[in-house]
Amino acid sequence: RELPGDPEADNFRRQVLGACYSRVEPTPVSGPELLGWSREVAALLGLPEDLQEDPQEDPQAEATREELAAVLSGSRLWAGMEPYAACYGGHQFGNWADQLGDGRAITLGEILRSNDGEDTRWELQLKGAGPTPYSRRGDGRAVLRSSIREFLCSEAMHHLGVPTTRALSLVRTGDEVRRDMFYDGNAELEPGAVVCRVAPSFVRFGNFELFAARKDHETLRRLADYVIAEHFPELDAGDYAAWFGIVAERTAEMICHWMRVGFVHGVMNTDNMSVLGLTIDYGPYGWLEDYDPNWTPNTTDAHGRRYRFGNQPRIAAWNLTRFGAALLPLVDEAESIQAGLEAYAERLSAGVLSTYADKLGLRSIDADEGSDQPGSGPWLANTCMDVLRGANTKVETDMTIFHRQLAEVPMDPEASDEAVLAPLRPAYYGEYDRRELPPKLRELTLRWLRGLQARVRSEGLDPNQRRAIMDGANPKYVLRNYLAQEAIDLAEAGDPSRIHELLELLRRPYTDQPGKEHFAGKRPEWARHRPGCSMLSCSS
Ligand code: AMP
Ligand code: MG
Ligand code: MG
Repeated sequence: RELPGDPEADNFRRQVLGACYSRVEPTPVSGPELLGWSREVAALLGLPEDLQEDPQEDPQAEATREELAAVLSGSRLWAGMEPYAACYGGHQFGNWADQLGDGRAITLGEILRSNDGEDTRWELQLKGAGPTPYSRRGDGRAVLRSSIREFLCSEAMHHLGVPTTRALSLVRTGDEVRRDMFYDGNAELEPGAVVCRVAPSFVRFGNFELFAARKDHETLRRLADYVIAEHFPELDAGDYAAWFGIVAERTAEMICHWMRVGFVHGVMNTDNMSVLGLTIDYGPYGWLEDYDPNWTPNTTDAHGRRYRFGNQPRIAAWNLTRFGAALLPLVDEAESIQAGLEAYAERLSAGVLSTYADKLGLRSIDADEGSDQPGSGPWLANTCMDVLRGANTKVETDMTIFHRQLAEVPMDPEASDEAVLAPLRPAYYGEYDRRELPPKLRELTLRWLRGLQARVRSEGLDPNQRRAIMDGANPKYVLRNYLAQEAIDLAEAGDPSRIHELLELLRRPYTDQPGKEHFAGKRPEWARHRPGCSMLSCSS
């Protein structure tokens, strides 16, 4: 491969023309210390899975940890690593931002692994490893709090079955990072950290948009050919339209998963959209606690709420449209891009209905049934959302608990109103877990549950099978915003044990874990307005 740019001068910040990446080495840090390690990702890469907790006991284990901390903080390179930062652009909050690029992410290289006869390419990328030509005004660094959040959430999402980039490691750098945005009232200097993210590729919609915007169709085509050859081997070379269709469908699947588990990405700019349909770039993301489709975790977006939970399907379509437009110079017929956008819409609506079928424990929901027919599948799905929203009362309902508890609602039509409502009680905030629900909400909830009972009875699904479907679609444990913040507070005070405990817990999000029930509870009242526990800024 040709190495674009002048390797000697690579580190100055500039517009990089005619190149997909720039060679740049990570900047060493002063005191790297391994705080987090994902054994599943290590196994994928052929690295040691278990790093002994108390290295003092074993000099060999200590040496391994030190070596890994050095490499995974960007302070030492292994032979064969040829680090680079990628060049991309993007639409931020709906506006074209021109060149962005990896301003603080540096790829170390790729590991080729053969698992079960299948060759997989794993790109290792350090986030927070120092400046690159794309750093603009940034320092190329990441703070500990955002690194803990990315490390834990990547792995939590994977175990939830959501397509995502992975995280191998979390290393505290020993250096402090200055953030101009105030965090928690007073902190300006914060501990720095580096996460090693892992994915087959980190190529984004924005990589293609940049070359299209610059009318650099040659580079555009070369990058598309490379991505298709390496990551879509089932496609014919040059079939850009078919490729776009696959990206569109994968994106739809990813969005359905987000809506299923209550994940809000928070910054769905086109530079944060993976062409592999992976969740990428965990910044000010958040999890729905009380169900509110208008909620966004991103303080920068508090007014427009462009990236609110309920808008994610529409934004993904908007982003795909930008991506498709970037591919227009490569395709003969604009209609072929249009077809990909339609494939997205179809896959999304079918996906949302089948997601709801699983969440409610139904065999299937067919759009043709008619959403205005009380008792129909679409009516059950839509009414479920109305119930979660509180039916225009002020009642807030925890999405995760509500869905998990739904499997406990008796499906016997003879069961009393109290008996069918009781299992859902723990989901309500503001004392409604003990108090009577407002009549409007109580009435709608009962109407919906009675409709659900009738449907379940007519479908005749085996109750154990039904429970298995529901428990596999409705997680018990998610990375609640305040849980991440508690782990951050402890780690900043020198105790990383909660990171390990949460990582362990979130490996089995669908399994009841005795002794860990407190991690499945509602957000405590103190967390409602506590910084870091609800909304977050992009400054990290
Ligand atoms: P994000 O909103 O996190 O997707 O970042 C948008 C752009 O800003 C990307 O090009 C990032 O690489 C860049 N960026 C974010 N934080 C920093 C930082 N601390 N130093 C340099 N570049 C950054
Ligand atoms: Mg980004
Ligand atoms: Mg980010």
